Amino acid sequence: MSEETIFDKIIAKQIPADIVYEDEQILAFKDIAPKAPVHYLIIPKKRIATLNDANPEDQALLGHMMLTASKLATEAGIAEDGYRVQMNVNKGGGQVVFHIHLHMFGGRQLAE
Ligand code: AMP
Repeated sequence: MSEETIFDKIIAKQIPADIVYEDEQILAFKDIAPKAPVHYLIIPKKRIATLNDANPEDQALLGHMMLTASKLATEAGIAEDGYRVQMNVNKGGGQVVFHIHLHMFGGRQLAE
């Protein structure tokens, strides 16, 4: 079992977050250090440290996270212009919090 992270505390409502979506499986909230006018994190309530630790049984959960990113982009009014969905994996991929999360950000022209 992976170690608890700050995201477990957000799921448990032990520390505040600006939550934009929640259901039984996932939670989405605003990134505390946004890289764009809209920057949400979409996380599973189940603790999975990295994408490398996801199993075939997590397939539907991962798909649900992706579709929620699209839904939230539409709700934020940035879907048509475009946005980015990104998951960092391990240190080399820029992952800092070891509880998988999708970044969904946009609202400005993204380079690269
Ligand atoms: P990553 O580098 O992919 O692991 O991204 C972790 C992200 O979590 C960063 O963009 C942080 O700004 C964000 N973050 C860390 N702590 C919090 C928090 N308490 N509430 C919201 N976002 C956070």
